[in-house]
Amino acid sequence: MTEHSMSIAPTARAQEYTDRFRRFLDEDVRPLEEELAKHNVGTAGQPKLDSEGRMHPIVWEARREVQRRAGALNLYAPHISAELGGGGFNRVEMHHVEEFVYRHSGLGLGLAALAWTEGPNPASEHMSEAMRERYLTPLIKGQITAAFANTEPNVGTDVLGMETWAKQDGSDWILNGRKAWITNYHFADVYQVVAVTEPGAGTRSLTMFLVDADTPGLERGPDLPTMMDDGLTGELEFRDVRVPAENIVREVGDGFALAMSWINWRRLCRGGMCSGWGQWLITRAISRSQERKSGGRPIGDLQSIQHLIARMALEFYQARSTSLVAQAELDQWGAFEIPLHKEAPRLISLLKIINDEAFYRLADSAIQVHGANGLLRGSPEEKLFRVARNLRIPAGTSEVQLNAIARGLLREAAVS
Ligand SMILES: Cc1cc2nc3c(=O)[nH]c(=O)nc-3n(C[C@H](O)[C@H](O)[C@H](O)COP(=O)(O)OP(=O)(O)OC[C@H]3O[C@@H](n4cnc5c(N)ncnc54)[C@H](O)[C@@H]3O)c2cc1C
Repeated sequence: MTEHSMSIAPTARAQEYTDRFRRFLDEDVRPLEEELAKHNVGTAGQPKLDSEGRMHPIVWEARREVQRRAGALNLYAPHISAELGGGGFNRVEMHHVEEFVYRHSGLGLGLAALAWTEGPNPASEHMSEAMRERYLTPLIKGQITAAFANTEPNVGTDVLGMETWAKQDGSDWILNGRKAWITNYHFADVYQVVAVTEPGAGTRSLTMFLVDADTPGLERGPDLPTMMDDGLTGELEFRDVRVPAENIVREVGDGFALAMSWINWRRLCRGGMCSGWGQWLITRAISRSQERKSGGRPIGDLQSIQHLIARMALEFYQARSTSLVAQAELDQWGAFEIPLHKEAPRLISLLKIINDEAFYRLADSAIQVHGANGLLRGSPEEKLFRVARNLRIPAGTSEVQLNAIARGLLREAAVS
């Protein structure tokens, strides 16, 4: 790869997008956020839960309204190919977009305006034309939501050891099994379910199915409350769930590659998200250090606090630089191609672990600058520290990222 062909600067269209997003936050999101505040159901970032432990339906509906409006204004899916109805942005452009959205929304309702796990994703781009019309277009417009059902009670990291299976019956497939830790398990309209179709066939053993939420035999199980406390993660059970063959994404046997597309997308989104939230926390720490006094002077005059803030800037800058360069490299190969460029998994894992670990340290320092107020339940510092701790597990644990980095390096060494 030639260095001169890589650019990490925001393009004109990414800048145009963030300008429009800023207006959307002011004109659409702010009034909705003010309306939400009247209901005493928490906020988008710190929602109250309903009696079943799920995100309060009023908070969920506020998020949905933001998604529908963002979809109508073509703000919701800039990462999806333009020919399918998205913005066609590459990963460097998406980094700038995500960073902007996270920095300017903080923990507010505005975050819902950019498709996250509940929205269209690189795996869903592989739907057949008929399925695209039925699911992908409404997803891009924010009219419906999705969930990715891969992990199971007995299998997380070891994806190829999954037990949910699908058996062919005429032109249909019958699914049986259980999925766990599924984000948006309760509210999703459609599930991207990964199941075993050819036991023992290794990376060709799995297939991805699109399953409507109201399909007989599919049950939404209990919420699995985590330290995120958002009431969004839970279990699904499949008992003789009949799915037509046309609901297979791509081909039978492509499920592992498709699951990795989804997972790699989540890994790469860490770059902009951690940069945006990191900047937000740094700004808040600087303000606090100027307002809070000790011995009659702002704590920002103390070297101990200056060093904490300097370290936050260091974590932010290192992770952001790595993310932009890695994504510029990936853009040259296609970050979600099937098959994926042989060097891509190493870079994607590197980006994820660097961001997860840097953001964890940054969030820890943010609490230290704020003192007890940083530990206060509901403060942005407290919530983002919990988020930061969480990040090191979903979409592949830190250990698994190290495996992928080492695998890539050792393979390169073996062929040279
Ligand atoms: C908030 C949240 C949201 C999630 N959302 C989704 C979702 O939407 N859809 C979905 O399908 N899943 C989702 N997950 C599941 C998530 O992807 C898994 O939790 C993750 O992949 C780790 O699997 P596990 O929890 O089973 O850990 P395990 O696989 O049991 O790992 C336990 C420990 O062993 C280590 N370990 C295991 N195997 C290896 C190995 N081969 N090499 C080195 N170390 C290893 C791990 O690093 C870890 O430290 C979510 C999880 C959480 C917490």
